Amino acid sequence: MIEMRDIRKSFGDKEVIKGIDLDVGDGEVVVLIGRSGSGKTTLLRMMNALELPTVGTVTVDGISYTNNSKKSQIAVRRKSGMVFQNYQLFPHMTALENVMEGLTMVKKMPKQEARAVAEELLRKVGLEQAADQYPAGLSGGQQQRVGIARALAMNPKVMLFDEPTSALDPELVNDVLNVMIDLAKEGMTMVIVTHEMNFAKNVASRIAFIHEGQIAETGTPQEIFNHPQTEPLKRFFNIIE
Ligand code: ATP
Repeated sequence: MIEMRDIRKSFGDKEVIKGIDLDVGDGEVVVLIGRSGSGKTTLLRMMNALELPTVGTVTVDGISYTNNSKKSQIAVRRKSGMVFQNYQLFPHMTALENVMEGLTMVKKMPKQEARAVAEELLRKVGLEQAADQYPAGLSGGQQQRVGIARALAMNPKVMLFDEPTSALDPELVNDVLNVMIDLAKEGMTMVIVTHEMNFAKNVASRIAFIHEGQIAETGTPQEIFNHPQTEPLKRFFNIIE
């Protein structure tokens, strides 16, 4: 589904991604872990052309792009649904309208039909009761689930999650993670940046440990958590546990 080849990314003269090759297969759930500033978010954002690689090629569902292929960047963005740390809902629209927006504006779906699809998606994330609420009236966990429903509305081939629970109060985290676990069980291809190690252990088909802009180690949750090979990964676990 996603192939990244020899990816490098610099901001100014600071290189933050230093030669990464990564494949994400259909139905795989790849979790990116690593210390703050290691480059996880930048890597994720390159998977839907929100950032462009300085060097290298990204291919998503057969569409390739590099630093200077504008047309394929737009096509690629339509392949994936992105869920952000801070929800990024439209504040002046209800939960239902937030989910409907892409359906009517981008997919040009008739309003009636879009409403039915959006209602179904809100049901899927456990929020059918909150359809008419505005974001300000929802908890962070509910807002994030609306964010997931909105991304799913575009029928993406792959879902990208950038620390989706890190802004949430602890008691709200599980509601969001459970929605993501359900998606994984349905076979959705997902790439997730998270600091929730238990969740990573349970949901990942593969974990990539990013260290100073490179994949220092990759493997199954069992391999990564029970048999870390490299010093940076061993140190990372000592730091966060
Ligand atoms: P965190 O867990 O804190 O989110 P991360 O592993 O996701 O960290 P990135 O957000 O990818 O790390 O950032 C990697 C490096 O790139 C950091 O040093 C960051 O300051 C820098 N960086 C990221 N985006 C930009 C930008 N738009 N302009 C300049 N530097 C940036």
